Amino acid sequence: MTTPAPTPLRVAIVGSGPAAFYAAEALLKQTEVPTEVDMIERLPTPYGLVRGGVAPDHQKIKSVTRIYEGIAKLPGFRFHGNVTFGRDVTLDELRERFHAIVFATGAQTDRRLGIPGEDLAGIHSATEFVAWYNGHPDFADRTFDLSAERAAVVGVGNVAIDVSRVLLLPHSERVITDMAPYAVAALAESRVREVWMLGRRGCAQAAFTNLEVKELGHRIHGDVVVDAADLELDPTSAAEIEAGGRIAKEKHDILRAYAAAAPSGKPGRLRVRFLVSPLEFLGDDRGHVRAMRLERNALVADDEGGLTCRGTGAIEEVPVGLVFRSVGYKGVALPGVPFDERRGVVPNERGRITDGGAKAPGLYATGWIKRGPSGVIGTNKQDSVETVKTLLADVAAGDVPAPADPSAATFDALLRSRVAQVVSFEDWLRLDAIEMKRGDGSRPRVKFTSVEDMLAALAEEAAGA
Ligand code: NAP
Repeated sequence: MTTPAPTPLRVAIVGSGPAAFYAAEALLKQTEVPTEVDMIERLPTPYGLVRGGVAPDHQKIKSVTRIYEGIAKLPGFRFHGNVTFGRDVTLDELRERFHAIVFATGAQTDRRLGIPGEDLAGIHSATEFVAWYNGHPDFADRTFDLSAERAAVVGVGNVAIDVSRVLLLPHSERVITDMAPYAVAALAESRVREVWMLGRRGCAQAAFTNLEVKELGHRIHGDVVVDAADLELDPTSAAEIEAGGRIAKEKHDILRAYAAAAPSGKPGRLRVRFLVSPLEFLGDDRGHVRAMRLERNALVADDEGGLTCRGTGAIEEVPVGLVFRSVGYKGVALPGVPFDERRGVVPNERGRITDGGAKAPGLYATGWIKRGPSGVIGTNKQDSVETVKTLLADVAAGDVPAPADPSAATFDALLRSRVAQVVSFEDWLRLDAIEMKRGDGSRPRVKFTSVEDMLAALAEEAAGA
């Protein structure tokens, strides 16, 4: 039996990154069920990793926010920034006020290597560094010792590429971005000239994408150095490249071109190594990293028909004074919401959250907290469309619990009783304009890097208006 859809359907979305906006779009553009969306965000600023993760010198990618601005204008959309789920508003309080809650909180922490010496000073997660140079308020007070000549980045994904490129970018290219001013200043003093990017498997298994690895060659103030011997393929890798078609072949060709290139004379070097794993980091008497022990790997077949790596026992010790592990992001459990600790995601079936295999009525997930930290920004669109399809099917089947008090006004009153300054989307647009004005025509914007400063700027502007 189907029950009539509740009118209007009230949906809370927790998080405001790409997956959150695509879920809002899918909900508000469908015409079957009149719907209202309330988006809740911990920071006063929306857009998640587009603001705090995408590299500052990739402004074209960041311009996707114009699409999100359009979504925010759809009738029925409301944004509540500076509101922390679990602290300012609990799961039970949302359940009392919304038919459905969609979690789009991404993957907020990083994976560890689990090897000796990993906690030495000078070893950081790439996620920390990325959030720092992007001016994320939670990371603005971090410091990175950039006094060593050689740095290492463990992992060969696109985040590893971002970190390596930012370390070796010419100063003139950093100052024209929206990189946090403290990071521009610190990196201007950096003595890092050589970065080693370390892949545990072979070049055919590298996670980075062609555009990103190709871009390195003309963006860094130095050379990309690849050892030709690292590009020789075992039969399974050769078959993998063959099966991967044009894109896989092009990636191998890009790397071969780097291996064949003559030195340019520029000071920097980005050495991309394959088939090596750090076994251990060694510290000096200050407890600061001074070297890494790398083991040469060989590829072996895994149980799923792919290739994994195994140490060969051949070890080299390489001096290094700064290390970033860039081996993937990981989701964080949300208060009261089922969580799969091992995978770092919320257990779900096509977006419907499950608890011990049973449905958790009215609870949904999308984006990295749903599927894990993979794919590009656009991947979240189809992911959110799937979640919204599941949600609307549940509504049609009468499987979504009716909230006790679905009034938007009482939800506003609840938030106002908990949070001194809730930031609306209009407030964000004002903050956005202030940041762009601070860019003074020479930079896309100068970001506020503390929540306090953001709220003060809004209050000041409102007082002056
Ligand atoms: P990723 O693409 O999953 O890459 C993770 C890397 O870490 C892989 O090379 C992986 O190697 C390696 N790794 C994992 N565990 C390791 C270990 N214990 N020791 C050594 N290496 C290890 O993750 P990501 O770079 O964090 O990127 C996350 C997502 O965001 C990706 O989908 C990425 O494409 C996307 N992104 C896109 C852009 C862009 O489009 N410009 C920029 C940034 C991020 P194995 O393959 O051997 O596991």
